[in-house]
Amino acid sequence: MSENAPSEVASFLSDSPMKAFVGGKWVEAADGASFTTNDPGTGERLAEVTAMSAADIDQAVQAADKAFRTTGWAEMPANERGVLLHRLADGVEKNIETLARIEALDAGKILEQAVGDIQNFVDTMRYFIDISLHVQHRVPLAVAGHEARTVRLPWGPCGFIFPWNFPFLLIGWNIAPALAAGNTVVIKPAEDTPLSALYLAKIAQQVGIPDGVINVVTGYGETAGAALAAHPKLKRMSFTGSPEVGRMVAEVCGRNLTPVKLELGGKGAAVLFDDIDVEATAESLVGAITFHSGQVCCDATRWLVQRPIYDRFVDACVSRLKQVQVGYQMDEATQMGPVVSEKQRQRILNYLKKGQAEGAELVLEGGPAEVEGHKGSYVKPSLLAGGLDNIAAREEIFGPVAYLSPFDDEQQAIEMVNSTDYGLANSVWSTDLSRANRVAEKMVAGNSWINAHNVFAAGIPYAGINKSGMGGGVLSIDTYLDYTRGLSVVRPL
Ligand code: NAD
Repeated sequence: MSENAPSEVASFLSDSPMKAFVGGKWVEAADGASFTTNDPGTGERLAEVTAMSAADIDQAVQAADKAFRTTGWAEMPANERGVLLHRLADGVEKNIETLARIEALDAGKILEQAVGDIQNFVDTMRYFIDISLHVQHRVPLAVAGHEARTVRLPWGPCGFIFPWNFPFLLIGWNIAPALAAGNTVVIKPAEDTPLSALYLAKIAQQVGIPDGVINVVTGYGETAGAALAAHPKLKRMSFTGSPEVGRMVAEVCGRNLTPVKLELGGKGAAVLFDDIDVEATAESLVGAITFHSGQVCCDATRWLVQRPIYDRFVDACVSRLKQVQVGYQMDEATQMGPVVSEKQRQRILNYLKKGQAEGAELVLEGGPAEVEGHKGSYVKPSLLAGGLDNIAAREEIFGPVAYLSPFDDEQQAIEMVNSTDYGLANSVWSTDLSRANRVAEKMVAGNSWINAHNVFAAGIPYAGINKSGMGGGVLSIDTYLDYTRGLSVVRPL
């Protein structure tokens, strides 16, 4: 860790109440309102942040619209825009330790994982810059009697609303294609984790991204978020978060005919056939469910295990989960940090109670965890087991809780995987690769992984379907194309 990072973080946090970034200027909400963001590992206040109203959000969208029309950003050749965006990525990389500390403190992320998230932003940005250089933006059409071409152009100002679990990484996944294609952006981070987005704005200003191209607005979902989603000047809307809010966002966008992309929750399954290495698979799935305290939308939270290995697999998981070191996210020995807020902790504990009340067996108790010297929002990992009609097997818990269920044959396993309304990501585990590939294509979701879970790489599309999302995904050339509008230009000969 660089020696300067802690003092840079302290100086950043001392500038309270923190202002939003609109049209290249740091602004406060017109009514002076603010909200508090806490360190979930201690429960203590990190900073006061400006809470914008609908009128403030309007200013931000107007600024993004003006920047699109007047700065030359939209018309800039892709390679020139790429130079500026590489400078942004360089700025983020140079400040990786500062940003990782900010992210770790605000989101309760283990520092090392936060470093990975910030690096992922950099890599994603560079990937989409490369794409923008290679996509053919003008394609001549061979149509008799016409001189014709299709042209790909940016849309205009685009809105982005983010959740609190991967604040900075998700900003990268979503704004990188939009910016590389020449759009301007208004970013609204979650009220639990607004800080890394504000630091990004600081870097954008330092590296000379034209004023109004990147705007960061802060505030509550019901006010700032709702006003952004409903703004008629936005040409595209991207929402990552819960299905409940996603539905509201899609409704208001529908009224304005604003195309909307939703990345929502999940209730993924891992299907474990009896030919697997039980210990190695337990290691992988325990790692996945405890990563960021299970607050990962694409996690495998339903573990479907073929009956002959069920007991052995459960034992292997229980012994590993009992050893997971729960602690403060900034301590090196910590393997699992806090959950993001007291509200989230209560949600997890309530699901444990409701699941048992509906008859689930508590295989590993879990529940609240005490961390000496830190009054944060900690839980222990836990395991439930039973039928998939249980509330804890149907609804997204978003914590370190997995639900176990045995199965007998392939067909039954597929039916169990597909018994959910969600459709984000599942995995199948088997040494029989023909069977694994067959099952992978029968599991109804945006992503099927084989002998692994949570696999991401720029270039592999990631998307949810059904209750897990709509309107496209992220991390691939398709996303870039999504942020361009097609135009046909025709001259009869
Ligand atoms: P959330 O839906 O409560 O909030 C997400 C964002 O929406 C926040 O910025 C919030 O301020 C804003 N918001 C709240 N009410 C709003 C409204 N009425 N109008 C507009 N915006 C509003 O979600 P969360 O609790 O922050 O995040 C957890 C959820 O996100 C989980 O369901 C998780 O699965 C999902 N998620 C999905 C993905 C994915 O890629 N599919 C990635 C990460 C998280």
